[in-house]
Amino acid sequence: CEHRLSDFEKIKVLGHGNGGTVYQVRHRRTGSVYALKTLTADDSLRRRQIAREVEILRSTDSPTVVHCHGVIPTPSGDTALLLEFMDAGSLESLLTRRGLPFPESAISGIAHQVLLGLSHLHSRQIVHRDIKPGNLLVNAAGEIKIADFGVSKIMRRSLDPCVSYVGTCAYMSPERFDPDSYGGNYDAYAADVWSLGLTVLELHLGHFPLLPPGQRPDWATLMCAICFGEPPELPETASSDFRDFIRRCLQKESSKRWSVAQLLAHPFIAGRDKEESDLHFREIISPVTAAVES
Ligand code: ATP
Ligand code: MG
Repeated sequence: CEHRLSDFEKIKVLGHGNGGTVYQVRHRRTGSVYALKTLTADDSLRRRQIAREVEILRSTDSPTVVHCHGVIPTPSGDTALLLEFMDAGSLESLLTRRGLPFPESAISGIAHQVLLGLSHLHSRQIVHRDIKPGNLLVNAAGEIKIADFGVSKIMRRSLDPCVSYVGTCAYMSPERFDPDSYGGNYDAYAADVWSLGLTVLELHLGHFPLLPPGQRPDWATLMCAICFGEPPELPETASSDFRDFIRRCLQKESSKRWSVAQLLAHPFIAGRDKEESDLHFREIISPVTAAVES
C-alpha cells in the first residue's frame, strides 16, 4: 500500500551511514514501529545505487533479509525506505554494548543464520558485498537479518566481474583490491564468504581482526594487511571446528574458499548444539531488549 512521510512520526535516530540517516518511526494511525532509511541521491552513480538497493529489497522476501514495507519519495527529492524495525540493533552494536567477545556456541548459531541469508541472496544472483557486523541486524526473537544493499550487485545483469571499489574496504576480500592478479574472473560470491569469515572472527576476538584493538583503519594499512599479510586466524584456545571454519572462509585465493552451501554443512555449523547456541545468543540479546522495553 502507498505510504506518505506525514503518516509517520520520528522517534529517534538509529544510525548514520554513508547513504543517509536511519530513524525509528511510528505510524501515526496504527502505532506500528518501523525503521526509515533516507537516501540522498546527489549524483547519477548514487541514483543507480539507490535504484539497485530498492530493487533488491523489493525482490527478496525471506526471513533472513530485512523486509522493506515500502519506498517513500520525500519532498526534497530523496528516497526513504520503510524497513522492518530490528529492535536489538546490529551485531556491531551488540558487541560494543557487551564489551566482551561472544561465546563460540552463540557464534555458530549466528554464522548459521547469516549463511542462510547469503544462500538466499546468492541463489538469486545477488552479491551483498558489504557483509560486516553493522549490516547484520537482530530482533528480540533472536533472528538475524542481512541489511544494507547500498553496494550490492545483481550478477545476472552484466558480465563484468564485479570489479569496483565500493563497500567498506575493511571487510573486502583480497581479489576485490587486486582483481588483475586473480585473473579478473574470480567467483564474485566468494567475496561475501571472506567478509563473513572476518565478521565471525571479530565476534570472537571482540575487535576487527586485521588491526590491533582500537586502531583506526586507514586504506593503505588495510590493503597491505589484506593483500600481503597472512589471513588472520583464531587463537588455539578456540575449538578445532571453529578454527577450521574460519580457515575455510579466509582463504586468500577465492577459488579455495568454501561456498555458502559447503559452509552450511561444515561441522562448526551442522554439528552445533542448537539449543545451547540459541540460549547463549539470547543471553547476548536480552539485556538490550529489556532496556528497550523499560
Ligand atoms: P553504513 O554506511 O554505515 O553501512 P548505511 O547508510 O549503508 O550505513 P545501514 O547500514 O542500512 O545504512 O544502517 C545504518 C545503521 O542504522 C545500522 O548499522 C543500524 O544500526 C541502523 N539500522 C538500519 N536499518 C535498521 C533497521 N531496519 N532496524 C533497526 N536499525 C537499523
Ligand atoms: Mg550499513
